[in-house]
Amino acid sequence: MSTDLEALSRELDLAFAQLTPVERLKTLVERVPGRIVFTTSLGLEDQMLTHLIFAEKLPIEVKTLDTGRLFPETYTVWRETEEKYGRRIKAVYPKGEALEELVNDQGIDGFYYAPEFRKACCGVRKVEPLARALSGAEAWITGLRRDQSANREGMHFVGFDAGRGLLKANPLFDWTREEIRLFAEEEKVPVNALHGQGFLSIGCAPCTRAVRPGEPERAGRWWWEEETLRECGLHVEPDGRVIRAKLVPGTNHG
Ligand code: SF4
Repeated sequence: MSTDLEALSRELDLAFAQLTPVERLKTLVERVPGRIVFTTSLGLEDQMLTHLIFAEKLPIEVKTLDTGRLFPETYTVWRETEEKYGRRIKAVYPKGEALEELVNDQGIDGFYYAPEFRKACCGVRKVEPLARALSGAEAWITGLRRDQSANREGMHFVGFDAGRGLLKANPLFDWTREEIRLFAEEEKVPVNALHGQGFLSIGCAPCTRAVRPGEPERAGRWWWEEETLRECGLHVEPDGRVIRAKLVPGTNHG
């Protein structure tokens, strides 16, 4: 099946260039033989995709990873979206025991102390739940855009995620943030109130700040870390591996 999905990925990657986002979603529904999962962070791009999936009543599962550290505004837009479209966005939570162990090891905000601690937290709260969210699916839809950051340059409309054994589709890959913002405005798509306060890419509350004028779009994510380390693992570590690190007492807050 992997070989078939790999071939289909290549075929759809070429086909997507000629299609609109909703046509891309419909093509996935027509061509992918098994389950299709869209994981939403409830940010601007993902809200556009949720709108298209729900408005067109497409048989695509919409799931979100609730890390337990999201902004109150994110929970508000989650509720507003379910109310508007009458469909549930399914929650996937971290495993209770793993979360207890993590917090008891490194402290409640241990992620500020060292990149390993931050990756451990993302591992427990995001990467492992993502593996469960995608379990058994043949295709994964994301809201990634090509121009979001330099390390997304090598990505495609559709690729084959060999680690997870599924097709990965990015239907908004060639759209700009401004195009998506205008679409959301015209279609009255619910959007996170934080976007209006300088938050462009929105993740967990303690790890996201507003972006200053002229800064790159993802500059507000894990801003205290070196730029090359700033990924949560959802798009770079397909095996869901959790990195463990204990907090050294007395370490200064970074
Ligand atoms: Fe933990 Fe921050 Fe990663 Fe959220 S973004 S999972 S709080 S380290």
